[in-house]
Amino acid sequence: MDFKSIISHCKEYGFIFQSSEIYDGLSAVYDYGPNGVELKNNIKKYWWKSMVQMHQNIVGLDAAIFMHPKTWKASGHVDAFNDPLIDNKDSKKRYRADVLIEDYIAKIEAKNDKDVEKAKKRFDDFDEAMFRSTNGRILERQKKMDEIAARLAKAMSDGDLEDIKKQIEDLEIACPVSGSKNWTDVRQFNLMFSTQLGNIAGEEDKLYLRPETAQGIFVNFLNVQKSTRQKLPFGIAQIGKAFRNEIVARQFIFRMREFEQMEMQFFVQPGTEMKWYDYWKETRMQWHQSLGSPIEKLRFHDHDNLAHYANAAVDIQFQFPFGFKELEGIHSRTDFDLTQHQELSGKKLQYFDPEKNENYVPFVVETSIGCDRMFLAMLSNGLQEETVPDAKGNESTRTVLKLHPQIAPSKCAVLPLLKNKEELTKAAKDVYDKLKGSFNCQYDEKDAIGRRYRRQDAIGTPYCVTIDFETLEDDCVTVRDRDTLTQERVKIDSLKGMLFNKIEG
Ligand code: ATP
Repeated sequence: MDFKSIISHCKEYGFIFQSSEIYDGLSAVYDYGPNGVELKNNIKKYWWKSMVQMHQNIVGLDAAIFMHPKTWKASGHVDAFNDPLIDNKDSKKRYRADVLIEDYIAKIEAKNDKDVEKAKKRFDDFDEAMFRSTNGRILERQKKMDEIAARLAKAMSDGDLEDIKKQIEDLEIACPVSGSKNWTDVRQFNLMFSTQLGNIAGEEDKLYLRPETAQGIFVNFLNVQKSTRQKLPFGIAQIGKAFRNEIVARQFIFRMREFEQMEMQFFVQPGTEMKWYDYWKETRMQWHQSLGSPIEKLRFHDHDNLAHYANAAVDIQFQFPFGFKELEGIHSRTDFDLTQHQELSGKKLQYFDPEKNENYVPFVVETSIGCDRMFLAMLSNGLQEETVPDAKGNESTRTVLKLHPQIAPSKCAVLPLLKNKEELTKAAKDVYDKLKGSFNCQYDEKDAIGRRYRRQDAIGTPYCVTIDFETLEDDCVTVRDRDTLTQERVKIDSLKGMLFNKIEG
């Protein structure tokens, strides 16, 4: 489904509303509605379960959003958490200069993909890898993309703003709005929001809204390690809000100014970090597939431009409706953060290794995923229009949200076949009461049964339970599967167990 339809579906079905909509909204800030909050909570639960509950050596934390101002000096965010911005003088539109260049690369890549698609149709026994590594035009474009990416990476890591502008000019990149190439100089822009504590003002007391949850984990490293007696390697996981004053925020919940992260910092012996980096790369990729993301919509993307704290970094990219973009980052953060906090706080943040009988600062491998981006990935992957037979066997289209049952907002809907038959509605309400303590369920008696099925399809409810006249005789209900549309009769007594197996299984 196209991006616009996904956004309007989100509003129509109570997944996402623009923040303060009655005041015309606040740019890049969104509210989650009744179905949205369920889906988001379920994504968080699924992540927490697979990271904390399933790993004996990973424990949780919920640190405050406000932290001592020195935290952000130590982490490098005060000095280096900048994005390069550029304005077009004619349209007055502001852009991230590096993103303009990345979009230019993406356009070249799209041409290659188009050539591959064309060739695929021409040859029966088409070998894509062979075609990509031998076709002249494709190789030429690849070379060009590599050169552009390498120049950008160098300019970004050297902080060479002049060269970034020069590259935009050399590539003759035009403003998508005005079509003009009349650009301002590139300037650095710090992404942290600042405020102050109480009534004390001044630079020293400036507080920041955290731009990542990770630092709350680092400053608590020893508190957690000592209170849980964990030995290396072990991890600390946290879910929480983060804030970034993004320069350009145009892609719905993909890039927000207030968003939520699910992060895990894994503390390891120095020298073993690459082994753990590979381990978490694979483990996280499998996690995405376990929720139904097809492998062809996922890919790794190595960072050309390493952040100041990292010695290796890779993104898991997802194919959103606007192309492959970062969904999760896996970073080998070395001992940078703990060492910096040691220096600025004057407090030791070292681990005593009983086997080596020595103290040292552990290295860290981080997995960091945006909960909102995961939400968008699940919606854009799951939302589909399908042609299916209706109750009379005729073809009809339906909008269906194919979410993994564990993250679906409602697990089942209980539907009496008819509204005005009290014996049916009473029996249906009894079934609903039996289930509601175990699953998030809905009870719906309005409209014809077909329309009620469609409403549940549109919000991703995996199972509909229908109570009909036979139920009154045989204590059985019909369970309809959202994806296969198969229907089976099930005894009311075994309904809860059956749904549990289907959802948890
Ligand atoms: P990008 O390059 O897209 O700006 P990033 O590399 O700055 O992202 P990280 O600092 O690695 O992102 O943050 C970890 C994760 O947090 C990202 O993979 C993403 O899922 C999420 N995230 C980061 N910024 C935002 C944002 N503005 N809105 C929503 N999610 C975000």
